Amino acid sequence: MIEKAERLLQTYYGFSSFRKGQEQAIRQVLQNENTLAVMPTGGGKSLCYQIPGLALEGTAIIISPLISLMKDQVDALVAYGISATYINSSLSATEQRERIRDMEKGRYQFVYVAPERFDSGAFLATLQRMELSLIAFDEAHCISQWGHDFRPSYRSIVPTLYQIPNLPVLMALTATATQEVIQDIQRLIHVEPDAIVNTGFARENLSFRMIKGRDKRDFVKEYVKSRPEEAGIIYTATRKDADHLQQYLEKEGYSTGKYHAGMSENQRKEMQTKFVRDEITTIVATNAFGMGIDKSNVRYVIHYSMPMNIESYYQEAGRAGRDGEPGDCVLLFSSQDIQLQRFLIDQSPVEEKKKEEYAKLQSMINYCHTSMCLQQYILEYFQDPNSTEPCGKCSNCTHDGKEQDMTKEAQMVLSCVKRMGQAFGAGLTAKVLKGSSDKKVRQFQFEDLPTYGLLSHYTEKQLTRFIHFLTAEGYLNPGNGRYPTLQLTSKSVEVLKGQKPVIMLIESTTTNVEENYNVEYFNELRNLRKEMADEAGLPPYVIFPDS
Ligand code: ADP
Ligand code: MG
Ligand code: ZN
Repeated sequence: MIEKAERLLQTYYGFSSFRKGQEQAIRQVLQNENTLAVMPTGGGKSLCYQIPGLALEGTAIIISPLISLMKDQVDALVAYGISATYINSSLSATEQRERIRDMEKGRYQFVYVAPERFDSGAFLATLQRMELSLIAFDEAHCISQWGHDFRPSYRSIVPTLYQIPNLPVLMALTATATQEVIQDIQRLIHVEPDAIVNTGFARENLSFRMIKGRDKRDFVKEYVKSRPEEAGIIYTATRKDADHLQQYLEKEGYSTGKYHAGMSENQRKEMQTKFVRDEITTIVATNAFGMGIDKSNVRYVIHYSMPMNIESYYQEAGRAGRDGEPGDCVLLFSSQDIQLQRFLIDQSPVEEKKKEEYAKLQSMINYCHTSMCLQQYILEYFQDPNSTEPCGKCSNCTHDGKEQDMTKEAQMVLSCVKRMGQAFGAGLTAKVLKGSSDKKVRQFQFEDLPTYGLLSHYTEKQLTRFIHFLTAEGYLNPGNGRYPTLQLTSKSVEVLKGQKPVIMLIESTTTNVEENYNVEYFNELRNLRKEMADEAGLPPYVIFPDS
């Protein structure tokens, strides 16, 4: 059976061998086992249902929430000499009826449909009269409430399908799935636990880079200049940023495309077509761009500012290198990005989801400040069971900066957090340590704190970034509300005790700060230890118990 699959791979597609996971998924489907395939974007999920669809008798139904992708997929199949069509609302009613009629006659090996198609009982009735080879749910995370792109109409298809007597083997395919989503899909589609093919999320051809403290516009200009022939996407957080950045690049002599929801449908279509056909190489866009664009030779994706969560980031960055060739994913971070994303979450109408969104944002902020391998961070975020060694090529794995012992600074930050009652965020804490006479600092009389101005030889920006770093590394807990309220953790206690050094990477671009420690630092640390010990009812040298 699998020999036949291999033959189909070679004759129709001209590929010499299967990619990771494809063979297992195909074999299972051919053996009539419901299958869930979790593979990264560009991993080759389409072949997992297309090859069985070719090998088995009857018509394969592919349910996809991406109307814009259907036509491309169908065109690709037709170009391989395979009979395929799509049925969705982009067609006239007459055209839809005709295609359904042809479908019923068994004229197509593949039919792509949108989930809404199942809202009408008529379509289901037609399916019941046909011979079906398989039914595949592409982008299957959309059927789970836990997924980041839940579509209720997608979920409700499944119980409906189970009513039809001639139900063929079912497949679900997704790139973005946490354990919760995987289990949800598995239960819903009736997939045996050992019929889940999970190749993990790792995109080995991508390298991730985090850039901080650089002029963003300048960075982008230099970058685009250094890669003149290569296709790339630059994501901005707002339409205004997209307009401005594109104008700037044009003015500097770099012709780029632009794409956002403020443009007319025609303008957007035109941009998309030009980009896909390599008529323009660089496109500046908001997150409105990308869903459903099948362009495999994107060589880089730059995020002009931090996105709202890791899910969006990985999906957008993942549009680089879908052909398996190297892709560069750069995130340009500045602390204003955090304010912007908080603001955007605040604007969201869905009140119940906000708490979760703030928590996801916090993981994104942590990503921007962590010192661990960026690829690994993402894989751990998705609880990837295959998560392994550091990638060796992200900016944290290959940093050219140097490591600096920041233990004393960390102790001062932690003291300050304690002094401020563990009720404020990074911004205000940085102001207090800087010794700023900000209104809020005065309002809470933080000028009287012993930690006030203790780290005044750093800039407020450096301090904020350092506090984010401490949070990312688990020395501080940000809480989970709208406003982070920094709290000490068991790891902070070790630092305060002097049992754990805090080492931070200093980027080569940042200027070094002269060490300037005086007696105030030692006094503060001694007093704080004593106070914390008193609070815990312990002798001073214990500080307080680990818990
Ligand atoms: P996904 O849906 O998982 O994001 P696709 O199915 O669109 O990925 O495949 C991504 C690209 O990889 C396509 O250009 C496809 O032709 C190519 N591809 C898939 N399987 C193979 C293979 N076995 N050998 C070579 N190229 C492949
Ligand atoms: Mg796909
Ligand atoms: Zn790495």
